[in-house]
Formats: sequence, C-alpha cells, structure tokens
Amino acid sequence: MAMRFSRLAEYFESIEQTSSRLEMTRILSDLFKEADRDEIAQILYLLQGRVAPLYEKVEFNMGEKMVIKASARAVGVELNVFTTLFKKKGDIGVAIEELKKQASTLFSKDLSILDVFNQLGRLADSSGVGSQDLKISILSGLIQELDPLSCRFVVRIPINKLRLGFSDVTILDGFSWMLKGDKSLRGVIEKAYHVRPDIGFIGKTIKESSEKGLTHVKPAVFTPILMMRAERLADPKDIFEKVPEGIIEEKYDGFRLQIHANKSGVKLFSRSLENVTEMYPDIVLAISTEIKYKNIIIEGEAVGYSTKTGKLLPFQETVQRKRKYDIEAKSKEIPLRLFVFDLLYLNGKSLIDEPLKHRRELLSGLVKNTAKNTLNLAPETIARAPEDIKKSFLKSIEDNLEGIMVKKPDGAYQPNARNWNWIKYKKSYATKVEDTIDCLVMGYDFGQGKRSGFGIGALLIGVYDGQKDVFKTVSKLGTGLTDIEWREVKKLCDQSLSKKKPLNYSVDKQMAVDVWVKPSIVLEIRSDEITKSPMHTAHLALRFPRLERLRDDKRPDDVTTIEEVEQLFKLQNR
Ligand code: ATP
Repeated sequence: MAMRFSRLAEYFESIEQTSSRLEMTRILSDLFKEADRDEIAQILYLLQGRVAPLYEKVEFNMGEKMVIKASARAVGVELNVFTTLFKKKGDIGVAIEELKKQASTLFSKDLSILDVFNQLGRLADSSGVGSQDLKISILSGLIQELDPLSCRFVVRIPINKLRLGFSDVTILDGFSWMLKGDKSLRGVIEKAYHVRPDIGFIGKTIKESSEKGLTHVKPAVFTPILMMRAERLADPKDIFEKVPEGIIEEKYDGFRLQIHANKSGVKLFSRSLENVTEMYPDIVLAISTEIKYKNIIIEGEAVGYSTKTGKLLPFQETVQRKRKYDIEAKSKEIPLRLFVFDLLYLNGKSLIDEPLKHRRELLSGLVKNTAKNTLNLAPETIARAPEDIKKSFLKSIEDNLEGIMVKKPDGAYQPNARNWNWIKYKKSYATKVEDTIDCLVMGYDFGQGKRSGFGIGALLIGVYDGQKDVFKTVSKLGTGLTDIEWREVKKLCDQSLSKKKPLNYSVDKQMAVDVWVKPSIVLEIRSDEITKSPMHTAHLALRFPRLERLRDDKRPDDVTTIEEVEQLFKLQNR
C-alpha cells in the first residue's frame, strides 16, 4: 500500500528533533528505503517544502492570514481563538496540531502522500479571481482529513515555513546511506544531480536502478544544468602552462544565461537556475528566429548595448534589465546582445562530454556573428604562446571588458565544476587581492551608534567547505555598505531568520552573532588582503572587506570555496 502522509509526518518530526547531521542523514536513508518508487519524487519535493523541483517557479501565494482562516474553519473555531493560540505557541503548525487533538470528531482519512501532494499542487495552481477562497477550502479540507501531527507540517508548506534544516547535499548523502550505509556514493550521486538538478528525478532513478542508473543520466531540455565555472590565474605564462593552445574568449561583464528550447518553446535560466524567461522577451524571440534546431541547450553571456553607438554597456547598466515590471519598455531602452559561448545539447544529443573544440564548431554552424542579430557567437582566438594571452588580455582591457577566459580545447563541459578547463584572467589588479570573493551571510549583530536605528550593525560572512558541506567564517563586515544597502540586507536577512545556528555553520564562539540567518544571501566582497586568522574557522580572514554587489544570481553553495580563498591567498603572496 502506498505510504501514508501520517508516516511521512513521523519522519518530519524525527528530523525536526535531531540536531545531528549524521542522524538526519540516517533518518532520511530510512525514509528513502521505506518509500516506493512511485512516491519517492513527491516525498523529496515535500521534504523541501515544495511540490516541484527547485528550479520550477511554484508559488502558493498564501499569506499567514489565509492559513489561519483555513485552520480556524477546519476545526470550527473563531478566528480570534485560533490567532490567540497561534500567538501563544509562536508557530502556526503547533497551534493547529493542538486544536486538532482537541477536536471531538476523530476523522482522519489517513490520506496517502500522493493525495496530499496533489492537493498542495492544486493549491499552488489556482490563481486569479476566486482563487483565494479555493485555496482556503483546499487547505481546510486537508486539515480536516489529516491527523494532528500531519497538520503541523502541512500548514507550514504554503507559507514556506517547513524548513527542516538540511541541504540538498544531506539528501544526496541520504541516498548514499540507503545504498551503501555510508557516504561513499556522494560523488557519483552529486555528479548526476549536477546534470539533472531535479531531486525527484534523481531519487526515482536511484530507486529504479540504484547507482548504476545514475551513470546514464543525461541532460534534458528544460531542466537547467548546473553551470560550469572557471579557475583564476593572473599570469599569461601560468595560464599557458595549464592550458597550452587554449581557446581565448573575451570575458563579458553581463549575466549568464542557459537557454533551453524545442518546438514547444524557450526557457531561460540564470546562474542560480531561476527561470528568468519572462524578463528577456528579446532573447526569447532571437532564439526562435535567428537559429535553427529541433531542440537545444546553449549558454552565453547577455550584455546591454547602446542603441546610439552600438558599444557594450557596463554591468551597472545591463543589470537594469533584471526586473519584473516595464519589461518591454526597458528592453527597447537597453537592448541585449547574447554572446553565445557553449553548446550543451543539440537535436536529441548531449554534447557535454564532447571536447570544447567540437562544441564550438557545431556552434559556429548555428550562430552567426552579425551586428543586426541579438545572438552573436563569442569570438575566439587560439593562444599559440603566452604572448597571445597577454595581447588578448591587454586588448580586452582597452575595450573596457572584464578580462579574458582561456579554455582547454579538449575539455568537456563539467556541470558545476570549477577546474582548469576554464581559466579567467581579470583586470582587477588595483587591489592586492586579485579577485572578489562571494560570501554567504551567516548572521548579523544588532550594532551600536548610528546604525542601531537600523537594527543591524555587522554581518558575519563565510565561504564554503564542499568536502564537509559546511560554511566557515572569513569576516565580520561592519563597514563598506551604504545606508540603503544595510536596509536591503537587513530585509533579506529577516526573510531567512534561523532560531538556532544552522547545522552546517562552523563558527568560533568569539564570532557568534545576535541573529542567525539561514543560507540564502550571497554578497560579492572586495578586500585589500587575505590574512591568516585564528578567530575565523576558515583560518583566513578578509582585511578591509567591502560590499561590491549583491549576488542574487548565485545559490548559497555557489559561494567561493575554502580552496579558492587559499589559492587567492597564495596568489597574493606570490
Ligand atoms: P566572476 O565573479 O569572476 O564573474 P563568477 O564567480 O560569477 O565569476 P565564474 O564561473 O567564476 O563565476 O566566472 C565565470 C563567469 O564569467 C561566468 O559565470 C559568466 O557569467 C561570465 N563570462 C563572461 N564571459 C564568459 C565566457 N566567454 N565564457 C564563460 N563565462 C563567461
């Protein structure tokens, strides 16, 4: 018999009660073992408080007020009775659980996981006139039919408060534990997940054909592939040594897009895998009219250009295209050019394992390089000697570009990897540290003096240790933000508060903060120097850090890694 939602709620409860990572992984592996192949995908989405993979925009559009209404209606109490109890308990889930326990009618239909999942899906799907009433009645129906413990968790989902406190990596480890009793399969599972970051699909594949199934995982049109990244070097000779005869491309300072298309349509994904199709109708149109394919996945960097001079615009202007309103008007004012640099899939065939040279050949047969087109093939030259790298670099600086990329001609496209297949060489030489660092906001202090009025005075920021799946601190950032930026960051922080220090944060006692923030906000930080530090768990710290920009195009586990900071430390001390 299909698994009951009440059973899943028991698992949710055990997960909620443990504060040990390992224990959590074990509980997950038990759950995965017990689940059937036809329900595993839905269970995995529900564990994330969702009804679809992370890259699908699914919004419940339900506020706390609506959930309160649904709850009160379901158990037949006055709104104010429910609200008072909710205030006392401080948690909407616990409040409804208690009322359900008291309710005299003992009807629990013991719904299956799929029943509940489908109802939540209906809830998310309903929109437009009258949808509020429909949403309330769906949720209140669910509450009526479910047992108290299940209610605790179900009502948290539409208001995005399920938050069981584990990362995707913990889920992947859960599978490794299920198959092997340890985390030895993490690498294999992660690799497949980077190609198809749909946790439900990965879970189903494992249930159907264990780890063997994962080796055959291929890209799929409309499932974004985690984007490949570049290492950094600051010397043409070093670059040439790592990548002889490399393909040199310009490094454009715009935003990266991964484009998926077939006969039925076009979807655009940002670096953080957000579906941004609506924002760029000009690119969508160009994909449908300027190139020919049955189905395709390509990547490029979009940069705004001046309608008067045709010249590319600086990042600050391009970024104005990232908006939810006045899209059409802005697209006329700042049209985009998409410099296409990679081809990952074409007419039913995955190309990610093909050498770059071959991918670029195919690309040049598809995308032309003309000023009247929106899509342009990113021009390439071959580095026959370190001198060529130097020349290209200097030319890019003259042209006001960010620098260059040098890519290994026979390199595959390795989803999510940052390795020597791609090397970036940037002009940021003005400061001692040769690159900015993307940091995660881990928490904040209230602050004193002038800023006590904002309620935020310093940010604890950190980088990622991928091996251990923990974030380690590198700085407390107390200056270098404008008043507006402090307010904005505070607002973002307050959307992701955490009662306790998140499990995957490693923080020295001396660096504890007033308020903890769950992994969600990424800031790009510039600093003067990287120094050794006994107080920061990364053992390195940023000197005179300041905010360069908010990186809402990056996911938390996309921040700079410990290894990279160590490498920058070495580069700086060269
Ligand atoms: P940075 O902060 O240096 O832009 P990042 O942390 O955003 O880097 P990286 O993967 O390290 O990400 O750097 C590569 C980024 O540079 C890509 O994500 C892409 O947006 C951009 N880019 C510009 N031109 C190219 C190009 N020709 N090939 C690949 N990426 C390019």
